[in-house]
Amino acid sequence: MKYVNNILETIGHTPLVKLNRVTASLPCQVFAKVEFFNPGNSIKDRMAIKMVEVAEQKGLLKPGGTIIEGTSGNTGMGLALAAVIKGYKCIFTTTDKQSKEKVDILKAVGAEVIVCPTNVEPEDPRSYYSVSKRLATEIPNSFYVNQYDNLANRDAHYEQTGPEIWDQTDGKVTHLVVATGTGGTITGTGRFLKEKNPDIKVWAIDSYGSLLKKYYETGELDMNEVYPYITEGIGEDFVPENYDMSVIDAFEKVTDKDGAVMARRITKEEGIFVGYSAGSAIAGLLQLKASLKPEDVVVVVFHDHGSRYVGKVYNDQWMMERGFLDVKTVKDVVNARR
Ligand code: PMP
Repeated sequence: MKYVNNILETIGHTPLVKLNRVTASLPCQVFAKVEFFNPGNSIKDRMAIKMVEVAEQKGLLKPGGTIIEGTSGNTGMGLALAAVIKGYKCIFTTTDKQSKEKVDILKAVGAEVIVCPTNVEPEDPRSYYSVSKRLATEIPNSFYVNQYDNLANRDAHYEQTGPEIWDQTDGKVTHLVVATGTGGTITGTGRFLKEKNPDIKVWAIDSYGSLLKKYYETGELDMNEVYPYITEGIGEDFVPENYDMSVIDAFEKVTDKDGAVMARRITKEEGIFVGYSAGSAIAGLLQLKASLKPEDVVVVVFHDHGSRYVGKVYNDQWMMERGFLDVKTVKDVVNARR
């Protein structure tokens, strides 16, 4: 018989898929590391399990304990899967910006989810950071995961995502493109690949409304860069500990509209039903195309699955209300409804 002992053993070893249409204007080959093949439908399964296992090893998480985290959903899903298999409870705090689908999915796998306001400072007692930290001090036998500063996050990508990309490209990868939030994916994966070949370029894709790119370029925490944006899972209003900025060669910002439009194109043109940040990653790559040569081999990480965005990016009404569909497309939709 060929089987795995539980669902956690199916994490990782995701396929590398050649992109044939959305990157046709680039001179080189582009491949997507399609992370929604993980059991929780996102790359975050990798680091979630790693963070739980390291906490167990350090004695921070004991049998029957409660896992607490501020999460936009994908990390929560990975943690919830680990909790189901390993017998822990989960409490997550998230923001009212996140898809309702994401919250419902977390509840479906047994987590308690507390929704907090988006537009407050991280230090505000109502923020999802503050609420999760407070719960961790109040609830006995609980472990506050803190994916931002928990370095097991980036270690998971150093141990898994980086080696997989190196193997799958036979060491031919020249560019790694990652839409970045906590910094775990880009730092861990980028660090591994650069140790293999220091000439590999690592490009970070940020969102307008985030201060990461400005921090990378100036070392300043410029709060003037920070304003509400819609793209989920990327960009920050602080710099998490998981970043090693020396791994990164370029930072590019993408608008909410360009990310959303490109996510829909990837789905329609490549048949890969991706989440929002995959659209941002490809849109950012296209913005940087002047630096690419025909012999380059680009790998772009696709973090999660489109099913979590059916009420948003994949909803025409939602797109129209935000001015993300152009007039011609809007007319087509209206005509189609007649
Ligand atoms: N895209 C999505 C959909 C995510 O959930 C995340 C995680 N915040 C990222 C991109 C960024 O990954 P990382 O946190 O490893 O930088």
